[in-house]
Amino acid sequence: MAETTEDPADLVDPSPSIPAPAPAPSSTKRKNAFEELMTPKPKLSNSARKSLAKEKRGRWSGALVEYINHPDRFPGQVLCVTPHTVLIKDSYPKATVHLLLLPRSEKHYLLRPHEAFADAEFLKIIREEAASAAKLAASELERLISPFSAKSKERNEAMDNGVPFDELPAGRDFLKEIKVGLHAHPSMDHLHVHILSRDMHSEKVKHKKHYNSFNTEFFVPLEDYPLGDEDRRRETQFQNENLGRDFRCWRCGREFPVGKFADLKRHLEEEFEEWKLE
Ligand code: AMP
Repeated sequence: MAETTEDPADLVDPSPSIPAPAPAPSSTKRKNAFEELMTPKPKLSNSARKSLAKEKRGRWSGALVEYINHPDRFPGQVLCVTPHTVLIKDSYPKATVHLLLLPRSEKHYLLRPHEAFADAEFLKIIREEAASAAKLAASELERLISPFSAKSKERNEAMDNGVPFDELPAGRDFLKEIKVGLHAHPSMDHLHVHILSRDMHSEKVKHKKHYNSFNTEFFVPLEDYPLGDEDRRRETQFQNENLGRDFRCWRCGREFPVGKFADLKRHLEEEFEEWKLE
């Protein structure tokens, strides 16, 4: 896989908007939203799926399939392989801990998230694997942050002083700091679940799309799937608005005009320092 320090999605398309869906052919009468929903979606034959998979493999946006097909080639990046998924570290992490869970099912991995997770059995499997991955992410976050954390310090000191287990102070729950979900309109072709800490503390957070895609309804928690037919998070226009809206701090809720990204970054830095100490 090509080595680059920039997310290729940003190099190819630095604009924050999702490409508009292809216009309906002029000869066809435009369907209303209800007709659109009720129209059966074309099912791919096995051979069509294979040729689509081959075409996508050759593009930057198809790069994630390499981890699925050849996990052994990425020993520093692949954390876990199961019959259903491959868990990797995100190459351009947008937070202190940022992992991607890649489903291996060829039947599902080129579908959009809301289509793939309409399959209840598949969703159940991916939820279970995401729950394990979130625990792993939480323990890595704990390793990195607990040396600064007041609650962790209090608990560790109590343990060192032999306080009985059921009397130990609660300590910090790092699992609560982990988010699990998908971008409503992903830039990478193969289905991937983001598992990341909430802090957005990363030099890779470089523009508004990076921030808003994780801190608006553009980020769809895995637990919210399957999405209802009327769920507005399916709508391209709604999601484009989310990517371009004013910033809201993930921690204190303070708002920053969308043109003030540098101010947001400074604020995130301060919030991170405080958050570490909790
Ligand atoms: P999205 O498709 O917007 O949901 O996010 C794609 C994610 O994949 C981003 O968080 C990128 O940083 C990450 N990414 C892009 N290319 C690669 C790659 N070749 N290896 C690992 N992660 C990648």
